[in-house]
Amino acid sequence: MSKLAKISRLSSLRTFSTTAAARQTSASHKTAGGDSSAENSLGLNFTLTPEQQEYVDLAESFTKNEIIPVAAQYDASGEFPWEVIKKAHATGLMNLHIPEAYGGMGLGTLDGCVITEKMAYGCTGIMTALEANGLGSMPIMIAGNEEQKKKYLTRLIEEPIMCAYGVTEPGAGSDVAGIKTKAEKKGDDWVLNGQKMWSPTAA
Ligand SMILES: Cc1cc2nc3c(=O)[nH]c(=O)nc-3n(C[C@H](O)[C@H](O)[C@H](O)COP(=O)(O)OP(=O)(O)OC[C@H]3O[C@@H](n4cnc5c(N)ncnc54)[C@H](O)[C@@H]3O)c2cc1C
Repeated sequence: MSKLAKISRLSSLRTFSTTAAARQTSASHKTAGGDSSAENSLGLNFTLTPEQQEYVDLAESFTKNEIIPVAAQYDASGEFPWEVIKKAHATGLMNLHIPEAYGGMGLGTLDGCVITEKMAYGCTGIMTALEANGLGSMPIMIAGNEEQKKKYLTRLIEEPIMCAYGVTEPGAGSDVAGIKTKAEKKGDDWVLNGQKMWSPTAA
């Protein structure tokens, strides 16, 4: 991605992040002000904000123009859709959940759902590839230290790359507590021993 494209993309993402933060502030003001309408007292409102609608429209147009025309071809070849990944990354339609502190948009679950729904109608397989970084980066977001977050989350925003999540093993699927893989410290190194399967983005 050219430097100009990168700057313009990051600045448009930041605008969106700010408005997402503003939505949160405005929601907490409503609660603090004791708004008594039934809608607010339930705490849920599925009406999209103008910013969410903008993103949904962007996702819909991306799906029509960039996913649907190539979906059958990727189904037939079984190739990983790198060209679609690069375009989605440049458009700002990947890594939606990465916090602003690491260059992302820090979008919430509802934002992610409405955007993902629009992308998935064109091809659920390509959508799974586009969304897979959410799975791989979440452990770092939840349990990583500051250095790890800076190193790994920032990279996902800067480059169209994929990260992998390797939990499933031949003897441990739903039962994640049954995993056998071990990381052992040997001198200055960590040695990983075990078997992993079904980690598509690690292949
Ligand atoms: C498209 C795709 C992508 C994937 N990507 C990844 C990835 O990136 N990284 C990764 O680590 N894994 C990945 N997986 C693996 C996925 O997470 C596992 O398939 C999942 O954890 C289920 O494990 P399993 O297939 O061994 O099924 P099992 O755990 O053997 O379950 C089989 C069936 O038994 C049911 N079951 C299991 N335990 C119980 C219980 N205690 N009570 C009642 N019912 C139960 C389950 O609901 C299921 O219907 C992927 C799978 C798919 C299909």
